[in-house]
Amino acid sequence: MAQKRSQNHVYDYAIIGSGLSGLSIAAALSRFTDNIALLESGDVPGGMNRAIKFPTGIMNNGLRYVPDTESAHKALEFLENILGLKIIGESVEAPPITFASGTFKPFVGFGDNPPPFYEELNYFTANKSLNLKLEPYAWTQLLFEKFKGEFMPRSYVTKFNSLNEQVTQVTINGAKTLAAHNFIFCGSVKDLALLLPEDALAPRARQKLSKNVYWTALCLDVCHSHEVTETPSMHVLNGTTDDEIGPCAGRFMPAITEGEQKLQASQWMTFIEEEVTEDSEVVAASLKKIKRQIKRAYPEALESIKLERIIVAPQIAGNGELKLSGNQSLPGLQNLWIGSTSVNAQKNIVGALSQAQMVIAALGFEITAPEFVSETETTEIEPSL
Ligand SMILES: Cc1cc2nc3c(=O)[nH]c(=O)nc-3n(C[C@H](O)[C@H](O)[C@H](O)COP(=O)(O)OP(=O)(O)OC[C@H]3O[C@@H](n4cnc5c(N)ncnc54)[C@H](O)[C@@H]3O)c2cc1C
Repeated sequence: MAQKRSQNHVYDYAIIGSGLSGLSIAAALSRFTDNIALLESGDVPGGMNRAIKFPTGIMNNGLRYVPDTESAHKALEFLENILGLKIIGESVEAPPITFASGTFKPFVGFGDNPPPFYEELNYFTANKSLNLKLEPYAWTQLLFEKFKGEFMPRSYVTKFNSLNEQVTQVTINGAKTLAAHNFIFCGSVKDLALLLPEDALAPRARQKLSKNVYWTALCLDVCHSHEVTETPSMHVLNGTTDDEIGPCAGRFMPAITEGEQKLQASQWMTFIEEEVTEDSEVVAASLKKIKRQIKRAYPEALESIKLERIIVAPQIAGNGELKLSGNQSLPGLQNLWIGSTSVNAQKNIVGALSQAQMVIAALGFEITAPEFVSETETTEIEPSL
């Protein structure tokens, strides 16, 4: 990684946020320059995509499902080109299932009663999904290894400062500044309502940005003390009560044997409106509902569980509603590109990678496949925990 630069240094690129999107851009740009600053408010790179230790082994921080779609292939090929590794595995035909009237049935949609976060949940209900040769937590680790610039943890960007329709500097932690020729924002677009200079966004656009509906992902990872099911299908569970909490989606990982015992992990998620993220009653009621639905479908699944983890990920989803120029920059601030997932037409991992790809193309770079593409398995990579 590059040497620490002087205080007056001007970077070619300042990337704000080191999640999947920011790291993909950082690693791709590293093919052309090392004069890059990667600013991250947290302690470590990776954002939501990191490894966690579970009794069944190392796994992703919550569910990671990728539907087998054309956009997913395109997005993952971009990642394969950056890493020089095969990531796309075989397609798995396992249509989603639901539990109703005491039995498992194919999930055929919500009919006339879709949940308010239907668009977010829809991503998880494809008939075919992709097996991944490398897990998402390993992607972010490997992308970070390819990054040649300067990583700045605990650097929360609190303001963009501009002059003549160009961002000149960002303010970090409300105190120091960092200058660059180009800025790429990969955080939550909602925050732009606060971060952008007064004259960069019309008052209506600013209001729209903060008034938009954003969703918080609420996830539950469970380690069961026996094998609950062999089905790889996504479960969409709702139940009999049409309450405002709505359905959840989740699936079981293959069981592992530990001594005499079998252990199986399952990962579940639902969404709540971002505004109620801090309301512990809403969070508790949603988690209770997830558990109730699991228990209804598999009455013994939650008996003597080994471990459970809860993940609350605010503003993970929602439509950015931010008007960008054709080149993904912000009109009125020509050197500020938006790499945030929520401005992309695709969602989740696919959206993060697609937006990173669009920004890289807009900056005038092409990431071609390396001559040698190797096969590596996640198990061969030492996870940083
Ligand atoms: C529990 C859970 C389950 C999920 N399941 C799936 C799934 O099954 N399939 C799927 O495709 N996707 C899934 N997703 C979504 C997927 O993980 C995300 O869409 C993707 O990781 C987004 O990457 P990102 O880089 O846009 O954002 P993030 O990973 O959130 O990274 C953004 C980074 O920017 C930093 N940052 C933000 N603002 C600032 C600032 N002002 N200054 C400095 N740093 C800043 C943050 O600290 C963070 O590190 C899931 C997400 C969660 C949380």
